[in-house]
Amino acid sequence: MTKSTISRASNDFRSDTFTTPTPSMLEAMVNASFGDDVYQEDETTNEFHREIARLTGKEDALFMLSGTMGNQIGVRVHLTMPPHSVLCDYRGHVYAEEGSGLAILSQAMVTPVHPANGIYMTLEDVKKYVTLGDDIHTAPTKVISLELTIGGVLTPMEEIEKISKFAHENGIMVHCDGARLWNASAASGHSLADYCKHFDTVSMCVSKGLGAPIGGVLAGTKENINRARWLRKQQGGGIRQAGLLTAAALVAVREVWPTMKETHERTKKLERDLKEMGVVPQIPVDTNFYFIDAGRSKLDMDVLLEQCEKYNVRLQDERISMHHQISDEAVENLKAAIGEAVKLSKDLPADRVASKTAGYGSTAKMNEWS
Ligand SMILES: *Cc1c(COP(=O)(O)O)cnc(C)c1O
Repeated sequence: MTKSTISRASNDFRSDTFTTPTPSMLEAMVNASFGDDVYQEDETTNEFHREIARLTGKEDALFMLSGTMGNQIGVRVHLTMPPHSVLCDYRGHVYAEEGSGLAILSQAMVTPVHPANGIYMTLEDVKKYVTLGDDIHTAPTKVISLELTIGGVLTPMEEIEKISKFAHENGIMVHCDGARLWNASAASGHSLADYCKHFDTVSMCVSKGLGAPIGGVLAGTKENINRARWLRKQQGGGIRQAGLLTAAALVAVREVWPTMKETHERTKKLERDLKEMGVVPQIPVDTNFYFIDAGRSKLDMDVLLEQCEKYNVRLQDERISMHHQISDEAVENLKAAIGEAVKLSKDLPADRVASKTAGYGSTAKMNEWS
């Protein structure tokens, strides 16, 4: 527990969106400047934009009402005349969880890619599925979107570099869904700018692991951001006294982001403790997520969710999400609930556990991540 306050989020492992604004965020909101951001006259918001531009090494940045808005507008700025397509991981939020926004807002086809390694997309995957050339039967790939982290897993920097180089050599723009790029940077030690130099546009959330109540941000060239400001207005995202929100976002970057490393260490510790109980994850635990492999752990998920209620911790599926407001007590309770569920699952007929957990294996069911 890295913050002194006990939040209603302290036992909530459902997602890293279940956080509450910290007292210093609320204080910053009260003391924000209240200029009109549609006129670009809000000092707090302008400061936020400059800070994100500095951290990402991009020319400019723009506050967004959500990560979804940042992704949809971030991709849209690169797309002009259909037919065109966007290539991304089949689990990609931009494709799987944004209400078919790419089809509606960008009139784009999507090429959803199943990574051969089951974990993250590589240049080999991209080369296999990319659509190049001017064959009139096709929708050529105009944007490649990479999600960092994806399922909490890191993509190696060399792979990002290779994909970006290949894309640019072929006239394809590269967008980063960096909702959790903060986590990638904290875990890998690479700066945000190290990552961002491989991307044309980068969208990041401030209301996920950073814990601000509302928002995201898009970074790119001045030209991209001018275009994005236009599209944001069109979508009803031109906000007036935006300082209320960007003040909290600035505190999230300055005060919560530095605690993320500790959140990751606590997740790793949980992984070790669960291993001693015979419980294993589906995919590597690189950052703040642990996906329980219910099948291999011989754990019945229904039984586990019942035990979580009994032990006063909130979980909705096999994903355990850690964030800065999770208390040590809640982690102990979660482990106790899992321990109990392991025992109770042993008494169930083997075929019940197997049938209930079929499909929890690596790369299955992962499009439910958000
Ligand atoms: C949550 C999420 C988004 C969208 O963020 P919202 O603020 O919920 O709209 C985009 N990408 C990823 C990877 C996410 O997890």
